[in-house]
Amino acid sequence: MSRFLDTKFAALEAYVPGEQPRDKKYIKLNTNESPFPPCAAVIEAMNGAAAADLRLYSDPTSVGVKRAIADFYGVAPEYVFVSNGSDESLNFLFMAFCENGAAYADITYGFYQVFADLYQKKTTVVPLEDDFTLDPAKLKATTETLFIANPNAPTGICFTPDVIESLVTANPERLIVVDEAYIDFGGESVVPLTQKYDNLAVVQTFSKSRQLAGARLGFTIANPAIIEGLEKIKYSTNPYNVNRLTQLCGALSMQDRAYFDKTRTAIIENRAYTVTELKKRGFTMTDSMTNFIFAKSDKISGKAYYDGLRERGVLVRYFGKARISDYVRITIGSREEMEALVAATDDILAKAGE
Ligand SMILES: *Cc1c(COP(=O)(O)O)cnc(C)c1O
Repeated sequence: MSRFLDTKFAALEAYVPGEQPRDKKYIKLNTNESPFPPCAAVIEAMNGAAAADLRLYSDPTSVGVKRAIADFYGVAPEYVFVSNGSDESLNFLFMAFCENGAAYADITYGFYQVFADLYQKKTTVVPLEDDFTLDPAKLKATTETLFIANPNAPTGICFTPDVIESLVTANPERLIVVDEAYIDFGGESVVPLTQKYDNLAVVQTFSKSRQLAGARLGFTIANPAIIEGLEKIKYSTNPYNVNRLTQLCGALSMQDRAYFDKTRTAIIENRAYTVTELKKRGFTMTDSMTNFIFAKSDKISGKAYYDGLRERGVLVRYFGKARISDYVRITIGSREEMEALVAATDDILAKAGE
């Protein structure tokens, strides 16, 4: 490491994204992307004229995409902040809304820990129960800004809105950030609660259910006072945080509700198929409300399953962390991709049984 790097960052452990391999063509079920292309309006809009406009700065107020998000959720645009992926929203929330520290689960989105370390926040880590659920009473006992991935990752387990509301009302002096990256695959969003409570921020992304992972677009919905704070941080770091093409794609994709419903329904159906098939083969899974499943074999280790799939051209995510080292996380892809996963699984189990 360079001797010019601030010493306080020397020991920082950065976030490690899932592999984006180039060595060969994999069935890619490791980073929770959509198997479907963006909606037709997005593909059509990515033309020569849109590219020519790249000479111009993007709209720093992101007014078009903000309005589309506000319309979708039936909130005023003043309740919406847009960011370069939802990771940027989370970055700003850790940077500027955690004076009293940050609390989150021991098994959850890995970036929370990285941001907390980056900003050297005091943290409280709440352990999941043995069945990977989160006990609301243990969350209520914390006092820091609380980050909850709902549904949680990589477990896929989801709280209902009444549980989140009980956390929000338990302590009006503490901010709760609900990361709803996977909410469109079966859970119920708490965006409506932002109209009632000023200590709740809901973070969402276009990466998982809207086919725009590579465009980098996320947003936060919260009381306008919180949005104002996020805007202040944005204008103090990168006023043009969302590029022109992404603003355009985001607005168009929000407006095509039919395609959104069609694609998320397909994922939910493919998830049901995969769960059924893996159960038949002796796997146990958490009750996933997301576009992935968290699965454990009764015959082979998590690492052996991950390696076996990889050898057969199927890439999934293996964490190898305490408590979850028996599990792999499998993104739900197209039906063909899930059939290929099941076939590869059969082959792995047959070889293991020999
Ligand atoms: C994928 C993911 C994000 C980040 O999404 P981007 O918008 O692509 O930055 C945030 N939170 C959770 C829980 C995720 O799984």
